[in-house]
Amino acid sequence: MPDASSSPSPPPDKDQLDVAIVGGGLAGLYAIHRLRGLGLKVRAYEAGSGVGGTWFWNRYPGARCDVESLEYSYSFDDQLQQDWKWPERYGTQPEILKYINHVADRFDLRRDVQLDTRIKKATFDGKDNRWTIVTDKGETISARYCVMAAGNLSTPRVPDFKGLSDFKGKWYHTGLWPHEGVDFSGLRVGVIGTGSSGVQMIPIIAQQAKHLTVFQRTANFSLPARNMPMTVEKESKHKAEYPARRAAAMETPFAIGGHAKPTRSALEVDKAERDAAYESKWQEGGSISYLYAYTDLLVNKASNDTASEFVRNKIRSTVKDQRTAELLAPKDHPIGTKRLCLDTNYYETYNRPNVSLVDVRSDAIDHVTASGVKLKSGASFELDALVFATGFDAMTGALNEIDVKTSDGAVLRDHWEGGPLTYLGMMVSGFPNMFIVTGPGSPGVKTQMIASIEQHVDWIADAIDHLQKHQLDRIEPAAEAESNWVTHVNQVADSTLYPLANSWYMGANIPGKPRVFMPYVGGFDRYKKHCDAIAAKGYEGFSLTRRAPVRA
Ligand SMILES: Cc1cc2nc3c(=O)[nH]c(=O)nc-3n(C[C@H](O)[C@H](O)[C@H](O)COP(=O)(O)OP(=O)(O)OC[C@H]3O[C@@H](n4cnc5c(N)ncnc54)[C@H](O)[C@@H]3O)c2cc1C
Repeated sequence: MPDASSSPSPPPDKDQLDVAIVGGGLAGLYAIHRLRGLGLKVRAYEAGSGVGGTWFWNRYPGARCDVESLEYSYSFDDQLQQDWKWPERYGTQPEILKYINHVADRFDLRRDVQLDTRIKKATFDGKDNRWTIVTDKGETISARYCVMAAGNLSTPRVPDFKGLSDFKGKWYHTGLWPHEGVDFSGLRVGVIGTGSSGVQMIPIIAQQAKHLTVFQRTANFSLPARNMPMTVEKESKHKAEYPARRAAAMETPFAIGGHAKPTRSALEVDKAERDAAYESKWQEGGSISYLYAYTDLLVNKASNDTASEFVRNKIRSTVKDQRTAELLAPKDHPIGTKRLCLDTNYYETYNRPNVSLVDVRSDAIDHVTASGVKLKSGASFELDALVFATGFDAMTGALNEIDVKTSDGAVLRDHWEGGPLTYLGMMVSGFPNMFIVTGPGSPGVKTQMIASIEQHVDWIADAIDHLQKHQLDRIEPAAEAESNWVTHVNQVADSTLYPLANSWYMGANIPGKPRVFMPYVGGFDRYKKHCDAIAAKGYEGFSLTRRAPVRA
């Protein structure tokens, strides 16, 4: 059979777009709305059978956001944020998905979303400055611009364990959870992975399973979420102040408002005062509040040690078995340098008689057997179900799965072979007219992501509008601007404690992935000002050109 992707047929008129958008999550949907507002013909292509992205795929028990829902929501329409009611402090996955579907209907976005369609190939042709995009069904689409809204955490990673295909029970990945749910009642369940998803699901699976065995390679810090029902007072106060709160969030490093900026170093106060501050943040719940206790928790190791040790002591006083407590207490990275988890009764769960923790750092998993898991030492565990909470090929996975090329012979995978290179995390030199929403080199994953998504999409829409208004049809960053930005991103990271952790920010969870620190950690506030300044200077660092005249 001929390979439809290798011989694109001339696109029919209906597939002549101004903008093709890859992904139908929060970013793809907002991009439709914003770009359509410029009068452009746009369409988003989504691999899933519904919109929502992260919140469509991650249906594991306990899945919920860990930024408060009054913040973790779109800000672009005041009536929307006034009308929507969040029943709890942190929305559950079903609530967030319901919200996203509401937005899709309310702004009539579905008519420009094509579901069940995976983009396999995108090729830029420098002769006419257009992208040709090929779907998994062999359709071809021609678009002036391509907006990659394919997600940072959308390529689930199932570890390559020997013997997995022999396993007689069922196995699951948190990021590909069955829509009908899973009933673990009476089963012996193994969970592999203790990052954010593992920490959310373990207490809930423990309540159902006959026995739960948690296989932990790296202990992660987790703080209490202190989830609670939304009160009328909190909701009305927040909604009355919404515009001011959203504006204030823009002036913060994590794009999250409502927290007083710290003014002192952790080392400027004595231990008793420090511990009282940490205790108050611990009781308040939430990660930003804790990391905002002092100015220098993410830049000064000695300061961070005080915050890390406070949490380790909380773990020691919560978990009764001291061997288990020590295994759960992270010692290989400063708190906050890996994604900080939020939980409800995570550490308490290890006091249950039906839960055990296995340290696979000292005794690694050798292979999966027909009936469970065997470690290198020969120890084995009989299991009826296995859950991989092993995360994603973060930040570059989704783009590297697409065959992105240009007619000049540039190949994105090759350009990124040693780690991702971008200008502002939004564009790549040599790949004109391709924008990335919250790509590597942007602060996206270190922020309240919907704020970053809106900021990126607004900037992209303004850039496209600028091109249209000036009869220009091609934009690309200069190689020098890209390389200076990558250097800056690394310099900023090196001035913090982030590089001390083997995190997915570094690609450390994917064997063979280049170890490069990917997010910009200089703060959302600084980044946004920088992006605005670049646009104000006529897109400094970019080359904006008009199409070469077509020869007869
Ligand atoms: C479990 C979990 C909890 C999270 N909690 C928070 C939180 O509390 N706060 C926060 O700020 N962020 C959180 N995040 C990050 C979250 O990913 C973002 O907040 C946000 O949902 C990202 O939206 P997006 O549209 O950019 O990407 P996604 O939601 O990942 O959507 C991208 C979409 O693109 C599709 N796609 C990818 N490649 C292709 C292709 N080739 N062709 C067609 N379609 C494609 C995918 O199927 C996916 O639906 C969480 C992430 C996870 C996984």
